[in-house]
Amino acid sequence: MIRYAVLGSGSSGNSYIISYNGCSILFDAGFSLKQLRERTQRSGIDFSTVQALFITHLHPDHARGAGVFARKTNVPVFFHDSIDDQYSQFAALKIPSDSHSHFSPDAAVIIKDFSVTGFYTSHDSPHCVGFFIEVKGRAFLLLTDTGVLLPHMYNYGERSDVLFLEANYDSSMLERGPYPYPLKRRISGEFGHLSNSDAIGFLNTISTPKDQHVYFCHLSKTNNDENILLRSCENGLTWKGARTICTNGEMYSSTISIEGNRL
Ligand SMILES: [Zn+2]
Ligand SMILES: [Zn+2]
Repeated sequence: MIRYAVLGSGSSGNSYIISYNGCSILFDAGFSLKQLRERTQRSGIDFSTVQALFITHLHPDHARGAGVFARKTNVPVFFHDSIDDQYSQFAALKIPSDSHSHFSPDAAVIIKDFSVTGFYTSHDSPHCVGFFIEVKGRAFLLLTDTGVLLPHMYNYGERSDVLFLEANYDSSMLERGPYPYPLKRRISGEFGHLSNSDAIGFLNTISTPKDQHVYFCHLSKTNNDENILLRSCENGLTWKGARTICTNGEMYSSTISIEGNRL
């Protein structure tokens, strides 16, 4: 049985965890160590089993907890291999050098039963990535913080059992909302975020014969609304799978069996 959780998503902090056979891997640390520990324990996963932390990009809602996490736990923290002290947001985290680990995009990092592959996203942060994670024949996609959808993302999406997929904003809410025009342009631009209709279009494009579960993540508090996203799904989602809309800051945990899978 694989246990996994959205520990939280959205502006308040982003973090995900996947656990199998006494080994757990964290993705992003947008929370304090205390919060990460509490949320992990609440999801039914023993925090002491965490053996690695992978970071998608340096924005604070994804990385703010990484420094204290690294210093207090000595667990390796994996960053894109081009990220180093030249980036002030990285330097400010003060990751001890013996905890600083690297990955190269499109090359799998193997940790126990896990295979973790970073892949490029399009976002206004240096060397930003999403992750495709395989464990015991099951696969997970973490795809948030990207302004555009690229062919490799669809490929990973088709192969995934569980998708953590960004649905950051509703286009008309963003347009009518309070943000200044340049920020609106940034969010909806090539290096911004995925809208509800981007996420729905992504799911409708991937065709898969197997059961999938999508968690719509990283919803904006200002420019999105769960009921609007729900209505958009009811009206436009042809992809058939289970779906969960993640409220900003809330936690969602579940399990997936490794019986009867593709192995
Ligand atoms: Zn970001
Ligand atoms: Zn973000």
